[in-house]
Amino acid sequence: MADGVVRALIEGNLLVSLTVVTEAAREARARHKLQSVSASLLGQGLAGGVLLGSLQKSESRINLQVECDGPLAGFFVDATAGGDCRGYAKNPGLEIELGEGPFRWRAALGNSGFLSVLRDVGEEFYRSSVQLEAMSVAGDLDRYFAISDQVPTRVAIDVRHDAAEVLGAVAGVLVQSLPQGDVKALETIGQTLSTRLTQALQHQPEATPLGLLAELFPGAEPTIEYPVAFRCTCSRERVMRTMLSLGAAELQDIVDTMGSTAVTCQFCATKREITLGDLFDLLAQLGVTQPN
Ligand SMILES: [Zn+2]
Repeated sequence: MADGVVRALIEGNLLVSLTVVTEAAREARARHKLQSVSASLLGQGLAGGVLLGSLQKSESRINLQVECDGPLAGFFVDATAGGDCRGYAKNPGLEIELGEGPFRWRAALGNSGFLSVLRDVGEEFYRSSVQLEAMSVAGDLDRYFAISDQVPTRVAIDVRHDAAEVLGAVAGVLVQSLPQGDVKALETIGQTLSTRLTQALQHQPEATPLGLLAELFPGAEPTIEYPVAFRCTCSRERVMRTMLSLGAAELQDIVDTMGSTAVTCQFCATKREITLGDLFDLLAQLGVTQPN
């Protein structure tokens, strides 16, 4: 199964962007040791983030953040226009029975909160938030597009649970009106988009972007295709630069009190050990040498 994005133009001057993030969601689960409901909601967040990223020009990033009063507490997703995504759930250990139907995520998300989108387009940042009301990732993304973006858009995101795999398939689809697009046709598509995505995932055990596109929008010609992967931008060099920015006094304090430390990346859970030798090196770079 391959994660990816496919985009197409359909009748009525409507843009379709469809993504499968099954492997990325499984990788996020493995890295952060997520229980089922945390994994499922972060997977939806990754799908949402990748869809938002797919609307951006190249070289830009978007952040999709949900903060909520339910037991999940929220999640944070960072995605690029090129298909890289990463993220974490605020409560990794959520495993509860969810009911059926559109309101089933309320048990995890609660009754209130915010969905925020930050777009980093090189020199400038744009941030906007909407209050959670639908209490589902796709439903509140719909509201984000209606209220903040004011571009007619419909979003559906679904996670198929298989008997042996909670993240059987994770996919999302977004339909957006381009200038002079047929908003009425978009509304009609929007009424059944969620149901049809769910059905398509049931029909296609090996859910792929092209397979789902063909079922949801028969005859649609893909205009852009690219792979999606869980990928983090952290590195040992970045960690060392951050450590250096703590300054000599704080680094010396770590030497004196702990002797070594470790830094864990919030996004990908990679843990990097900072040894006493590393700390001495950092202090030396700041002009502090150790007494023999
Ligand atoms: Zn990382």
